[in-house]
Amino acid sequence: MELRKDPITRSWVITGDDVPESSPRAESFCGFCPNSPAPAQVISTSPGSDGFPWSAQAVVHPTPLYHIEGEPGRRGDGLYDRMRSIGAHELLVENPRHDGHLWNASDSEVEQFLRLAAQRIQDLKRDQRFKYISIFKNHGSNAGQEFEHPTSQLTATTFVPRRVLYELRAGRDYFEQKERCVFCDILSQEERQGVRMLETRGDYIALCPYAPRVPYESWVIPRTHESSFERTAARPGPLRDLRILLRRTLQRTRTVSEEFHLVLHNSPNSTYRSESLGYWKTIDEDYHWHIEILPILGAKARSYTFKEVYYSPLTSETAVKRLRDAKIDA
Ligand SMILES: [Zn+2]
Ligand SMILES: [Zn+2]
Ligand SMILES: [Zn+2]
Repeated sequence: MELRKDPITRSWVITGDDVPESSPRAESFCGFCPNSPAPAQVISTSPGSDGFPWSAQAVVHPTPLYHIEGEPGRRGDGLYDRMRSIGAHELLVENPRHDGHLWNASDSEVEQFLRLAAQRIQDLKRDQRFKYISIFKNHGSNAGQEFEHPTSQLTATTFVPRRVLYELRAGRDYFEQKERCVFCDILSQEERQGVRMLETRGDYIALCPYAPRVPYESWVIPRTHESSFERTAARPGPLRDLRILLRRTLQRTRTVSEEFHLVLHNSPNSTYRSESLGYWKTIDEDYHWHIEILPILGAKARSYTFKEVYYSPLTSETAVKRLRDAKIDA
């Protein structure tokens, strides 16, 4: 696998011919349930309750897209840029129960999962090779769900994914003009108008964004300004309002579609400030973490592509061969 930069949009894609196009083979047992005969490699564990040995767990992805060892080795090839797919690819097992989903789990289980996510982000941000840590969940076969057991995914990458980069640049530009956070301004206008608000719980708001990418898109966002999710999670006191609002918003989503994407948009790794990337300077003031939930509404509405990072399990060099040799009419 390698990373290639699109010279026009400047976004990175991951591609290679060394991964089978079909999904991994089905096993008769679950590798993520406690006491599995073939358990995944554990990275970090949250303390257990209700007789379970753990409540949430970070494990190595069984077929990782990114590998932790080595340097990115960024290099040019004429006008093109490429680097090795250095990074981390983990699964966050949300619950020890095979049917323990974020929308039906107990408050403390959802909280343990959120804390584990924050802890993994904090840990991986100590590695200066990683510019961004993504946390996302694909639920349902049309969303690209890989495992039956409730899991979210984590990737640490040597670049900032495209969609987040757009948000970071936009947040910085808005701040340069107005010296205010665009997300805070959105929140205060939405609260004032009240037409797109889903629910308010303490310091958290769930709303439908003004310009949705898919029908029924919703966001869960802290009302008080904060760029970094892990800093919010590190504050004393439980994440009570967040865990309840997340669960309730997912329940709402599931009334329109059982399949969805969920993604955390968070501040990038600013531990080592980069002079070339201007958004590092005002990041704490101009960016505001949030969770986006994008339901999938069947073939009719599936005209969009939701990808934080485009991933092609086939290189263009291999693809061109097949297309070139294809039997066509005229
Ligand atoms: Zn399981
Ligand atoms: Zn803000
Ligand atoms: Zn976002």
